[in-house]
Amino acid sequence: MPLSTLSSLAGALILTPVALSQPALAPAASVCSSLWDTLGSTLVKSSGPQYNATAAGTWNLFNSLDHPTCIVYPQTASDVQVAMKSIYEQGARYAVQAGGHSAMIGWNSVTDGILISFENMTRVSYDADTNWISLQPGLRFSDAEIVLEPHGVAIIGGRATDVGVGLLLGGGLNFAAPLYGWSADRIAEMDVVLVGGELITASATNEHSDLFRALKGGANRFGIVTEFRIYAAKTGRKDEKRWYGGSITYPGSANQALLNATVNYINNVVDPNAGAVIALNTFNISASDATILYVFYLGNNLPQHIFGEFLSISSTSQSLSPLSYFDMAFLVPGNARGNGQQFGGSSWLGDQGMFLNGYNRFLDFTAAFAHPHLVASSLIISPILVSQWEASLSGPNAMGNPGVPYASINFDLTYAPGDAFRPEDVDEGFKSMLAETPPSHGLPLFISESNASQDVFETYADLPFLKATYAKYDPTRFNMEHTDGPIGL
Ligand SMILES: Cc1cc2nc3c(=O)[nH]c(=O)nc-3n(C[C@H](O)[C@H](O)[C@H](O)COP(=O)(O)OP(=O)(O)OC[C@H]3O[C@@H](n4cnc5c(N)ncnc54)[C@H](O)[C@@H]3O)c2cc1C
Repeated sequence: MPLSTLSSLAGALILTPVALSQPALAPAASVCSSLWDTLGSTLVKSSGPQYNATAAGTWNLFNSLDHPTCIVYPQTASDVQVAMKSIYEQGARYAVQAGGHSAMIGWNSVTDGILISFENMTRVSYDADTNWISLQPGLRFSDAEIVLEPHGVAIIGGRATDVGVGLLLGGGLNFAAPLYGWSADRIAEMDVVLVGGELITASATNEHSDLFRALKGGANRFGIVTEFRIYAAKTGRKDEKRWYGGSITYPGSANQALLNATVNYINNVVDPNAGAVIALNTFNISASDATILYVFYLGNNLPQHIFGEFLSISSTSQSLSPLSYFDMAFLVPGNARGNGQQFGGSSWLGDQGMFLNGYNRFLDFTAAFAHPHLVASSLIISPILVSQWEASLSGPNAMGNPGVPYASINFDLTYAPGDAFRPEDVDEGFKSMLAETPPSHGLPLFISESNASQDVFETYADLPFLKATYAKYDPTRFNMEHTDGPIGL
C-alpha cells in the first residue's frame, strides 16, 4: 500500500522515515491497510468521489456525518469474507450499508471503522423452474422490480421505491403484506458471512435453521447476508391491473375521525386482499397539514364494507385507479435526502380511546419540541392483519406471531434540511414520549421503524431463543461490541 494512502487513513500513525519501530496502527487503519493489499484499491477506498458519495449518501443526514476509515466495496461473498476476517482478527469497528435507508443513527455508517458497502453487488435474476429470485444485497427494490416485471413476478419488498434490501432483515412491510406476508417470510435461503469470515447457507430446513429464523427480523446482528434467494410472488405484468386503490388526502382537521376509522379497520378487517397505511401529519412547517391514506384492494374497486368509513370522511383529493403490483411498488418514491431523521416505534391493540391517548401524547411532544428544530412529524399506522403471519412460506421469523391483529406505529421526526444538530432536549423528550406510548402486551415492535434506543428484541416472542442463537454464531459477542445495531442481545 502506498505511504500516501496509508497516511491519509484516519487515525493512522505519523510516519518517520528512519523510525526503527513504528507505533501500532489503530485497528481500523490496520484493517484498511491489509485490505488494500488483499482486495486492491478498486475495492477499498479511503477518499475520492466514490468514497464521498457513499459516506454522504445515507437517507438520514445524521449518518452522513460519519467518516469511515475506509469503505470496502465487495464484488463477491468471498470479498466480504476477507474483509470480515480481517476486521474480526484485528478487533476493528465496522458497519454494513445496503440501500442506506436506515433511520437508526449509526447503523449504516461508522467513524474510525470499516464500512462495507454493497454498491457493487446489485444482481437480481429469476429462475422460472424453481420460481426463486436470487438477489444481491446492494439493490434498491425499485431496481429489482424493473428487472422482474417482464417475468410477471415480484419480490414483495417495501412501500417506497428507494428502500434497499436491508429491509428483508427487518421483517419488511408492503402494501400487499396481508396477502403475501412479511417480506422476510418469503426468503427461501440466505448466504451469510459470520463475524469471523465463515460463509454458510441458512434455510428453514437445514442445520442453520435457527440462524435463518433469527435473521428474519434480527437486523444486522446475526451476520452479513451476501445473497437472498426468495420465493417469487406471481403478481403479474404491469399491464395487469389486478388491484384497485391509491392515495386519499385529508385535511389535518380529519385526523381524529381517521384515527377512529383506522381502529375500526384494524379490529374488524380480516380480508387479506385489503391493504392500508395512513400517515397522520401532526406537524408540518410548510403548513400543509395534509394526512395521507393509502388503500388497496385485490379486485376492481374498494369494497364499502372494508373502506366505507374512510371514504365517508371528507377528503381534499383522491388518486384512486386500477393498479398493477408494479404500479403499487412505484407509488411512493422515498428518495428525499438531506434531513436529519428519527424514528420511534410502538405496536397498539385497543379501542379508540387508547389510540387517541397515544396520538395526543405525540401531539404534546410535537407542540413542546418541534420549534425550531423540526420541519415535520407524523404518526404512521400500518395495520398488521393475522393473515400476514399465516402467509409465511418459510416458517416462523424472529418476531413471533402474536395471533391478533394490531397497529404497527411509526413516530416519524424530520429535522430542518442540512441541520445536523440534534438537541438533547428533543432527544430526551422523544424518548419520554416513546416510554409513555409503549407496545401493547405481547406485541412485537417493528425494528425498521423503531428508535435505536428501544429494546426491540425484548418485545419479540422468544428472546431466550434469540440470545442462544446469537451466542452460538457469535460466541465472542464481536458484532454487539464492534457495530451499532439493535440493543438487548
Ligand atoms: C422513507 C422510508 C420508507 C420506508 N418504507 C418501508 C416500508 O415500506 N417497509 C419496510 O419494511 N420498511 C420501510 N422502511 C424501513 C426500511 O426497511 C429499513 O430502514 C431498512 O433497514 C432499509 O434497508 P436499506 O438496505 O435501505 O438500508 P441500510 O441503511 O443500508 O441498512 C439497514 C440496516 O441493515 C443492515 N444491513 C443491510 N444489508 C445488510 C446485509 N446484507 N447483511 C447484514 N446487515 C445488513 C445495515 O447494517 C443497517 O443496520 C422505510 C424507511 C424509510 C426511511
